[in-house]
Amino acid sequence: MYGAIEAGGTKFVCGIGTNPDDLKTAVIRTTVPEKTLREAIGFFRDSGIPIRAVGIGSFGPVDLHRDSSTFGRITSTPKPGWRDYDIAGAVAGAMRVPVGFDTDVNAAILGEARWGAAAGLADSMYLTVGTGIGGGAIVNGSVLHGLVHPEMGHIRIPHNYEEDPFPGCCPFHGDCLEGLASGPAIEARWGTVPEQLPRDHKAWDLEAHYIALGLVSWICTLSPKRIILGGGVMSQPLLLNKIRENLAALLGGYIQAGELNEGLNDYIVAAKLGSRAGVIGSLVLAEEAFYRSRPPLAFDVES
Ligand code: ZN
Repeated sequence: MYGAIEAGGTKFVCGIGTNPDDLKTAVIRTTVPEKTLREAIGFFRDSGIPIRAVGIGSFGPVDLHRDSSTFGRITSTPKPGWRDYDIAGAVAGAMRVPVGFDTDVNAAILGEARWGAAAGLADSMYLTVGTGIGGGAIVNGSVLHGLVHPEMGHIRIPHNYEEDPFPGCCPFHGDCLEGLASGPAIEARWGTVPEQLPRDHKAWDLEAHYIALGLVSWICTLSPKRIILGGGVMSQPLLLNKIRENLAALLGGYIQAGELNEGLNDYIVAAKLGSRAGVIGSLVLAEEAFYRSRPPLAFDVES
């Protein structure tokens, strides 16, 4: 069995299993790091099940470079107490097993690529629109990390101040995509949480427009074969179709691919694993960590 932790800013979802069908999960409220991790590790210990590796898909930003002295840490988060916290080290030290570590959205696309809406595709991406906006991508069969890791929520998008005078709420950039289109941005602009906005509120047209502007950037740069959308804001059922309509208009018929025309309903899709994508994908991180740590078997060694 593997252990999985989706480490979020408001809750940790911990799981034990090998795949979506046998995964047993528990939810722990995110408080201060030491208490939260003590409870998460307690969940694995109390199960009595031998765990051979743990995967962590974490909120970020995080340091993913294995040769870095700060590998496994959450870095420049504004969340009190968590800045520079060594989350991977805390789990490895307590559990004494290999630990896989990545962003929560990279975990989500790994889960969707193994068991969900991106199964069988070598190029795909996942975007969550909720308390924040974040994305993960698989390019040529590998999760994209690069310099740090993608920060898709913080791209700059066109902002028409006459149509939308809201200045944005990102503490770093103001009106980046997250600053304009995250759940807190919707609430700050309209004075109502997204779940309570009526279906016909103009907020949803603006939201779809902003998300579609982001999607154009990634379609033109990463060229994914499918885009999966998740997160709390996406639970508004009309939003997915509004995003597709905005996207088609913004692309202007330039990119010649059936997926972006008659196939758009199968191209922009909801997460098949739903809100469990992150914790399920963390199982994949655990499995990768286990096989990375395993001593080579005789038939692995080149003669
Ligand atoms: Zn930003």
